[in-house]
Amino acid sequence: MHNKTVAELSKGLAAGEYSSVELTQHFLTRIAEQDTTINSFITVCENEALSEAKAADEKISAGDATPWTGIPFAHKDIFCTQGVKTSCGSKMLDNFIPPYDATVTSNFKQQGAVCLGKTNMDEFAMGSSNESSYYGKVTNPWGENLVPGGSSGGSAAAVAARLTPAATATDTGGSIRQPSALCGVTGLKPTYGRVSRYGMIAFASSLDQGGPIARTAEDAAMMLNVMASYDKRDSTCIEREVPDYTSTLNNSIEGMNIGLPKEFFSDKLDAKMQQQVQNAVKEIEKLGANIKEISLPHTELSVPAYYIIAPAECSANLSRFDGVRYGHRCDNPKDLEDLYMRSRTEGFGDEVKRRILVGAYALSAGFYDAYYRKAQQVRRLIKNDFTSAFKDVDLIIGPTTPSPAFGFNSKGADPTAMYLEDIFTISTNLAGLPGMSIPGGMVNGLPVGLQLIGNYFDESRLLNVSHQFQKVTDWHNKTPTNCR
Ligand code: GLN
Repeated sequence: MHNKTVAELSKGLAAGEYSSVELTQHFLTRIAEQDTTINSFITVCENEALSEAKAADEKISAGDATPWTGIPFAHKDIFCTQGVKTSCGSKMLDNFIPPYDATVTSNFKQQGAVCLGKTNMDEFAMGSSNESSYYGKVTNPWGENLVPGGSSGGSAAAVAARLTPAATATDTGGSIRQPSALCGVTGLKPTYGRVSRYGMIAFASSLDQGGPIARTAEDAAMMLNVMASYDKRDSTCIEREVPDYTSTLNNSIEGMNIGLPKEFFSDKLDAKMQQQVQNAVKEIEKLGANIKEISLPHTELSVPAYYIIAPAECSANLSRFDGVRYGHRCDNPKDLEDLYMRSRTEGFGDEVKRRILVGAYALSAGFYDAYYRKAQQVRRLIKNDFTSAFKDVDLIIGPTTPSPAFGFNSKGADPTAMYLEDIFTISTNLAGLPGMSIPGGMVNGLPVGLQLIGNYFDESRLLNVSHQFQKVTDWHNKTPTNCR
């Protein structure tokens, strides 16, 4: 059962081949047996999941089911779940049990889906390797010494290892696409404003966006059908009809114009990766698309601009963790100042502290113009690059990451080496565009991610092209070496 996609499981449940309780129990058993080494879950909701499954079975027999009723899945531990710990990978929130659901959480509940648990992640979604989680690193199912990517490494590893058919995730600079690429699964970061951020713990609010990780584009489309909704509790959520993303998967892509940015095929990209991505592009060309070279001249400035803007926003967002209202509080504070200082010193890890310091510095009166304002100006240039590219092409394709999965501790003492992991993903967030990563090849026995970037609200096209590609290739069906 664990090798089936969400679409297949949904049909199996409807046909009565198995019950949701059986399905849920099957995945819970797999998690219990295998997650001791992978560590992709922070919390497993065994009792809750089984009672949700029982309720789903009743709905199915009453003829009252949606495609998601009774389907097990997992939430990244950044989405608030009423009554279930939501830690965001941090000691700061180790004791936090939200009294409410995120909009994404309640959307899945309304469909009768079954939440198996909450997946591991880099602390407050800051990182590209999942090494910064308070709950320990996640290992990549493709190799026990390899990182799964981050920050949604728990979601990507759990889907790759078939511990859950699908999982929610978030992407601020690449955190859905990069771990999807490194674990050989399919991940989609929607247009900024497509999925509500209400109840999704904030990192950098102008960049954060929730989206799906699944094995296939079809499953990602099914997930986005649930995740996307207008929500007046998120003022940046766009009021716009949610199409049925599954209804356009089988459209022909003949005549579609696809651009390859020359900046994405530079010496920053591993040569073997380059070859694999080119092969994948040829497959898409065979499906009738027209391929042409384009230019996104400010690509190189995306990482430096992001590492001003994201820390600036995080320094403001994380000021709410003060030891007073919720989260970690130090023992026996001397006075208010001591309470703030020690609660934050004890609650946050190194990377989070580094970002808060950089962000507070960039926003300070003397440096605001030199750093923050400048970074915002660069952000506009990056957005303009895409606007002019989309005058000529319908879709942009390139690699998701510069190299396949790397080893633990391999980025050394220099934190900026890790930051370059997102060189191909960050510009999409700065522009607010949708981006997707699908398995597109293998290098040295490890998955290679193919990235697709679309125009605003063009998720249907990304899913359509990905689905057509997955119909003629087999990369998404490869099973990780360590998956039993
Ligand atoms: N790796 C990037 C960072 O560390 C992106 C993280 C994300 O998308 N949440 O900020």
